[in-house]
Amino acid sequence: MNRDVVIIGGGLSGLAAAIGLIRGGVRPIIIETRRKLGGRATSFIDPRTDQVLDNCQHVLMGCCTNLMDFYEHLGVLDLVQWHRTLYWADPPRPPCPMTIGRLPAPLHHALGFMRLGLFSMRQKRALARAMWRLIRMGPSGRIQWRHRTFMEFLRETGQDEDLVERFWNVVVVSACNLDVEHVGAEPAMKVFQEGFLANRFSPAMGLCTVPLIDLYDPALEMIQEGGGEVRIGTSVKSIAFDGSRVTSVITEHGTISATSVISAVPPDRLLKLVSGTLMDADSRLRRLDQIQVSPIVGVHMFFDQPVMELPHVILPGRMTHWLFNKGEDERGLQHVHAVISGAADLMDRSEQEIIDSVLADLHWAIPSSRGLKPVQARSVKERRATFAAVPGIDSIRPSTRPEHARGDGVSNLLVAGDYTDTGWPATMEGAVRSGYAAAEAITGKPTLVPDIPVGPLAWLMGLRERA
Ligand SMILES: Cc1cc2nc3c(=O)[nH]c(=O)nc-3n(C[C@H](O)[C@H](O)[C@H](O)COP(=O)(O)OP(=O)(O)OC[C@H]3O[C@@H](n4cnc5c(N)ncnc54)[C@H](O)[C@@H]3O)c2cc1C
Repeated sequence: MNRDVVIIGGGLSGLAAAIGLIRGGVRPIIIETRRKLGGRATSFIDPRTDQVLDNCQHVLMGCCTNLMDFYEHLGVLDLVQWHRTLYWADPPRPPCPMTIGRLPAPLHHALGFMRLGLFSMRQKRALARAMWRLIRMGPSGRIQWRHRTFMEFLRETGQDEDLVERFWNVVVVSACNLDVEHVGAEPAMKVFQEGFLANRFSPAMGLCTVPLIDLYDPALEMIQEGGGEVRIGTSVKSIAFDGSRVTSVITEHGTISATSVISAVPPDRLLKLVSGTLMDADSRLRRLDQIQVSPIVGVHMFFDQPVMELPHVILPGRMTHWLFNKGEDERGLQHVHAVISGAADLMDRSEQEIIDSVLADLHWAIPSSRGLKPVQARSVKERRATFAAVPGIDSIRPSTRPEHARGDGVSNLLVAGDYTDTGWPATMEGAVRSGYAAAEAITGKPTLVPDIPVGPLAWLMGLRERA
């Protein structure tokens, strides 16, 4: 079979690449191992109950401009509900709201934060000092922190242990999937500069109101209507290389020749598809084995009595980082989803131990739920949830376009995926950016969407140049 472009992998990066290509008039074929689309950002059928459950709660933020563009093209952006208030658990008092205020960025969180009863005035002053430093250094100031941990920055700005544990860590681990001791300063700084301070809409939190898997049916239709093809349940076994160009992909059902190949699989999978000769010819492939991973654990709990009213609660300083209220299911049970990021310590714990600890955290955060137990619970361990955003990671992340490689690059092999050099942590936004960048390289038509604009005051204060 001959095709213009073969995309290996039907996760968000592969789907975004396909939509970008279709919009640019190029017909791709996506080859996806599993029998469904969406990769890590999708749902599964729980074999114990036949229920459709999301792999894990997937959150987007107002600064995820490319992901929003992707959803808009699929016609599913309306299925995202935006939250401008974050609720921080503060027992025995009810959770404290922190709302995006009316002041211009970067002051939009100032009042909400001042009102948070969780922290002392001294801690709030320390936090303001660190934020001010992040604003003044601007995005380019991050570069000198490239090989240091975020904890070093927190120490340098005098953040005490309690503030680190109950504020900085919970935000950073949720966004970067690695705690402050291990995460690189650069990705963590980006989260605060671009995700919180640059624009009033940046920190708005988007939650999908339908199971994630429902988002991808329109993608399938768009690709097919545009003359492309999606082949699920088929694995790519290798990428053929003639010494200067990639020529085809070999699947268990045959060979598909193509003018270009886009890899949209995680780095460990890509490594299994390439020969030593291809690796010798393309410097982007040679450091893939150095990319480490960081796990996430999600726990789905179902209660026969109401346990929480708020849409979500953040749990500062606890094992569980977030509780999401997923509403009532078709049986009338309340569905609560707990998320623990950077969860390496939980990998050897049994499901029951994890559920018991999460339940203790729920009872701590919402005292009125004490004594209530779920009638059904299910934990999902994702060992290889995301790449580990350790210091120096950006020098290992491969570029999507061969001409941006630090050494040689095979001209018709594009590398997409959340782990590529998008500058973003491992997120849906990063995955879509990489897919759009791959499509743009092939069609020559602009596909990537600009970043959210920096507010005028934030710009004047220093958040202006790009890193
Ligand atoms: C538990 C969890 C929680 C998360 N929470 C968030 C969040 O709140 N917000 C956020 O923005 N991001 C979150 N993420 C990250 C987000 O899911 C990923 O960044 C994004 O989905 C990655 O997309 P991708 O296309 O790069 O890779 P993937 O989704 O991994 O897609 C790769 C695809 O390739 C397929 N494949 C692999 N090998 C082959 C082969 N040989 N042949 C054919 N197909 C193959 C796979 O089956 C898969 O479908 C979370 C991830 C996890 C695991």
